[in-house]
Amino acid sequence: MKMNWLLPSAILLLLSAAGAGTAAAQASPLPSTDVRPIYERLLERINKIPIYDNHSHATFPDDSDMDAQAAPPGESSVVRLRDDNPEFVAAAKSLFGYPYDDFQPEHAKWLIDKKKAAEKDGGTAYWDGILDKLNIETCLANRVALAPYLDPKRFHWVFFVDSFLFPLDNRDQTGKNSDMGVYIPLQEKVLHRYMQQEHLAALPADLAGYEAFVRQTLTDNKKKGAVAMKFEAAYFRSLYFSDPPRAQAAAIYERYHAGGVPSEADYRLFQDYIFRVLIDQAGKLNLPVHFHSAVGIGDYFSLRNGNPLNLENVLRDPRYHNINFVLIHGGYPHTLEMIWLTAAKNVYTDSSLMGYYVYPSELKNILKQWISLYPERMMFGSDAFPFNDAVGAEETFWLAVRSARTAVAAALAELVAEGAFSEARALELARMYLHDNAAKLYGDMK
Ligand SMILES: [Zn+2]
Repeated sequence: MKMNWLLPSAILLLLSAAGAGTAAAQASPLPSTDVRPIYERLLERINKIPIYDNHSHATFPDDSDMDAQAAPPGESSVVRLRDDNPEFVAAAKSLFGYPYDDFQPEHAKWLIDKKKAAEKDGGTAYWDGILDKLNIETCLANRVALAPYLDPKRFHWVFFVDSFLFPLDNRDQTGKNSDMGVYIPLQEKVLHRYMQQEHLAALPADLAGYEAFVRQTLTDNKKKGAVAMKFEAAYFRSLYFSDPPRAQAAAIYERYHAGGVPSEADYRLFQDYIFRVLIDQAGKLNLPVHFHSAVGIGDYFSLRNGNPLNLENVLRDPRYHNINFVLIHGGYPHTLEMIWLTAAKNVYTDSSLMGYYVYPSELKNILKQWISLYPERMMFGSDAFPFNDAVGAEETFWLAVRSARTAVAAALAELVAEGAFSEARALELARMYLHDNAAKLYGDMK
């Protein structure tokens, strides 16, 4: 440890500041016996903190704009997300006064009818009401397009950009496995929607034209209210992106844009180049760049390809120091690597997905580690998502919010009881995680 840059007066100042708030001079590896009352005091205050949700798919279950992809066949769910989790019944009771104790079809109908009626009504009051019940102030909605039933004052749009990586003949990609057989045609659909939005009847004839289309779509999406853009690339390929020369990408595009199947290596090189165009434009537009960076659904998701360490060459590239990168889902299960990636001041992460994949006791351990290292870089995210017609984004919002509030209260209670810092500081850290870090990042700090 190099401390010799500290002037003697600065040392004295630090010593007196350390002595002012806390009794213990050094943190202990074991909590004091009052950890439970500290937890209860903190949780009462933490429940009152309005949340800024960094990542959700707020939606009715039959709205295909909720995501750029869909669940592939044959997926096996983690324990907590299976239909028999009693927490979902608790969620429905808390949010809607659900009168039953299970989701037997004749009971679930009660809930489905309620949600169908809200969808038919069509106003924005229903989803605003869900946020109000959970004390969520602002919520990012990661969707193909923002829905008319979401209030733009509360729900801010995050759009998808992976489709720009798939303009060529995708039959080799689609044929790789049954997951890709579902995902890639949907990417082609989103690309087609963007082409319609930009009034393109066909792909441009050269790479310059394609780049202009990509950049203009991002510019127009920002004008429509988007606050960030999102890559789901980990589902389709490695998160390692090389930095190929433009001439090579141009030759590939010009050879294959009107037909013909590019080799795996050629397609990869072209994608790596377009990826660079996308993040460059995000930097010019001051749009944070979100990445899915965790395990994913499906039978063929590659943990190795999805490891967020693959992104290190991009996150640490001085050319991109002015671009804010947000690594969604905490890199789970690579959560410790993740928090070290956020050591760079332009890299953030969130706890979305983890908040319902694991129980609060495990989420507590992850949040405790993050808080102990880079508390300015971590944000709350729900990844609220409908699992079926009965258990919807509403119930997953509830589960993620309850899990995060209790887990962060427990992590902070342990740190206070171990002598790391005061309860007042713990509440500041909770507010940073649940609200302030995100509000600052998206320019929403009131
Ligand atoms: Zn998501």
